[in-house]
Amino acid sequence: MNYHVLTLFPDMIQDGLNTSIIGRAMAKGILSLEAVNIRDYAFNKHQKVDDYPYGGGAGMVMQAEPVYLAYEAVCQKIQGKPRVIYLTPQGRVFNQDMAREFAMEEDLIFLCGHYEGIDERVLEEIVTDQVSIGDYVLTGGELPSMVMIDAISRMVPGVLSNEESGQTESFAGNLLEYPQYSRPEEWHGKKVPPVLLSGHHANVEKWRREQSILRTAMYRPDLLEEADISEKEKAWLSQNLKLEGDS
Ligand code: SAM
Repeated sequence: MNYHVLTLFPDMIQDGLNTSIIGRAMAKGILSLEAVNIRDYAFNKHQKVDDYPYGGGAGMVMQAEPVYLAYEAVCQKIQGKPRVIYLTPQGRVFNQDMAREFAMEEDLIFLCGHYEGIDERVLEEIVTDQVSIGDYVLTGGELPSMVMIDAISRMVPGVLSNEESGQTESFAGNLLEYPQYSRPEEWHGKKVPPVLLSGHHANVEKWRREQSILRTAMYRPDLLEEADISEKEKAWLSQNLKLEGDS
């Protein structure tokens, strides 16, 4: 997977992604990351990339031409036209299914806006996907693109080691993950659930599955509607939700 990020702040992208699991995958060559400075494609005296909005109003707008030239430079370099993701609060809200889908691409271009955004005409010409990371407005598209790159990379084969496998994580099968515990067995008077110390693999799996279902029902009931759970598990859940409500 090769990421190409078109940005006015390339250092932010490079510095933000070169540590931990993603940094290790880049060092191994499983992922590559190129932060392209849009300003390098502003062919005017002061490398100016923004201007006032037509029609008036607050703020500045990133101009079409430098963005287009930066995009063309990437396409020429890789000899292709990959999907172009424009980070925008107006886009489809990012989720795990989208991360899985984007992870199947070989190259992805992320376009980061700043100020009031980018001239609509270049967006119409090059953008294939408009994606938001949530219903709030950030200063720029750099943090959202890093969020997306992190989540997508976890789905790229070889990025996570076996121990870090993403198979049972939250949102797999539309369920949240079960609670996790580590040593010591007792902390601040709170004990680790005994089943986890039993060494009985099937019972541990059963408990984890039940906890996933219970958690999802309590914290994210919206997910549960799409979750793959049996009639028996539904009956178990309504019983246990009643118990939680009574306690
Ligand atoms: N004027 C724009 C609007 O109201 O839709 C917001 C512009 S915002 C201040 C500047 C840039 O930050 C956007 O072009 C986009 O790239 C990025 N951005 C802000 N919030 C975002 C979000 N929730 N998800 C993805 N990108 C976001």
